[in-house]
Amino acid sequence: MEHCIKCGLPKTYPKIKMDQEGVCCFCRFYEKHQQNLDDYNSLHRQFLAEIEKAKEKARKNHAPYDCIVGLSGGKDGAYLICQLRKVYGMRVLAYTFDNGFSTDFGRQNCERLKKAMDIDHIYISMKDSELRKFYRAALKVTRNFCSICFHFMHYHSHLLASRFGIPLIVNGRTRSQIYQNACEEKGLEPFELSHSLKEFEYQMFGRLLDKLDGQSCVDFLPEAEVTSLSYFTYHQVTDEEKMAYLEKEIGWERPKNAKPHADCWAHEAAEKLFLDKNGFPLRTGELAQMVRSKELSPEKAEEILLEDRRLYDSPDPALMARFYERVGMKPL
Ligand SMILES: [Zn+2]
Repeated sequence: MEHCIKCGLPKTYPKIKMDQEGVCCFCRFYEKHQQNLDDYNSLHRQFLAEIEKAKEKARKNHAPYDCIVGLSGGKDGAYLICQLRKVYGMRVLAYTFDNGFSTDFGRQNCERLKKAMDIDHIYISMKDSELRKFYRAALKVTRNFCSICFHFMHYHSHLLASRFGIPLIVNGRTRSQIYQNACEEKGLEPFELSHSLKEFEYQMFGRLLDKLDGQSCVDFLPEAEVTSLSYFTYHQVTDEEKMAYLEKEIGWERPKNAKPHADCWAHEAAEKLFLDKNGFPLRTGELAQMVRSKELSPEKAEEILLEDRRLYDSPDPALMARFYERVGMKPL
């Protein structure tokens, strides 16, 4: 069997296990827990309880904000900031990690949101030489430089939160991002919440974290105790609903084309590197999860993936040259 008969994942997909019926471990895990993962009444109660806990803790700590949220200008972060402000009455600090890959689309939408929601918003930037060093190392070892942005975004949000006594970080990961590689409850919302940077990164990188532990190159801020919540674990809302809401509320502008991650100009390079390394497109796992949850038909998912292959197999040479110049290395 070359592909899972339910979600279509190839048997070459990382950490996949197929059973005798040709169904993958991710489909089996989702089947087992689907009832709980789709019980939005109960999930929403759990979310509310965490929000109340965070507000109480922020009061006790005399913290200037109840929570921190990352904002790149994309729809997920922008949508949840509006919700936290307007529906949950939270004092939100928004931050943007300035990695040198931002686009006009992202920056303009950040400004629109900041004005419309009247919130404090900060840019975090770090030593560029240090950042480029990490990009190069990640490219050489795994070809995945997005992991470096994830790490430093979350590193700085945990650092800020712990310095100011802010008890909560809310993130905009989508359900398909959260559940795409889930095959155990460990480190998975809503079963387990993260209370530290290390626990949060375990949710994204799994056992890679155990390998890195104890090495001096990565600081997991062991003293920072902050809870993380993935908003979309507890709320059911489609991408179209998010975009329509944002257009109306803050004058948010949609991306000009249907390519994902319009908030990062190097996204095409990430796609190309991933495709070359793995032989399948970057969002294969996410689309498989959308097939499992019936948000997409298997045929539609296959069509999108074929189009991704076509788009990213031969990226714009000028963009690739700009990318390698940005990170300071020769093309791989
Ligand atoms: Zn499957």
